[in-house]
Amino acid sequence: MSKKVAVLLAEGFEEAEAVIVVDVLRRLNIDVVKLSCQDRLELRTYHNIRMFADVLLERQMDTLFDAVVIPGGPQGTVNLAANPMVVEFIRRHDEAGKLICPICSAAARVLGGNKLLKGRKYVCSGDLYQYFDDGVYVDQKIVEDGNLISAKGLGVAFDFAFHIGYRLTGDREDTDFQVEHIYYDSWRTPK
Ligand SMILES: [Zn+2]
Repeated sequence: MSKKVAVLLAEGFEEAEAVIVVDVLRRLNIDVVKLSCQDRLELRTYHNIRMFADVLLERQMDTLFDAVVIPGGPQGTVNLAANPMVVEFIRRHDEAGKLICPICSAAARVLGGNKLLKGRKYVCSGDLYQYFDDGVYVDQKIVEDGNLISAKGLGVAFDFAFHIGYRLTGDREDTDFQVEHIYYDSWRTPK
């Protein structure tokens, strides 16, 4: 059965961080659902593109996904962090041991801001880590601590996406095939 991944979207999300992950995971035959954490499917992105989520988060509160991806975007992560349904959704998946995957400002604002880092190592963009004492900031492109996989920002979105995909499928041959298929030279499955 293919793995299921939820991508949490709110008004102002950083579109490329979301779309690169959706693209790569779907290439790896992972079932990706874009959840709107607002009261409508149509959302305006950080760089002012109108995009559609697949379904409202409130309709998926009882579904358990294998991973939850949380894109950045300054206003997007402020909106996600302030939404009690988002916090509950992430908390439930974290407690079930599912992968929690924030990129850019999401680890600090959405997880740190809601005491969901729980002392774990993470990375986020800029100096946001200075405002949250809930986790241990590590300055690397991608930081993995248990089921928490965080990434620094848009420039590492492909690494982030392939890392998550490989963690879910465990299929080294197909993952490296897809990496090479899109001419991505910076990442291969770890030996
Ligand atoms: Zn970003």
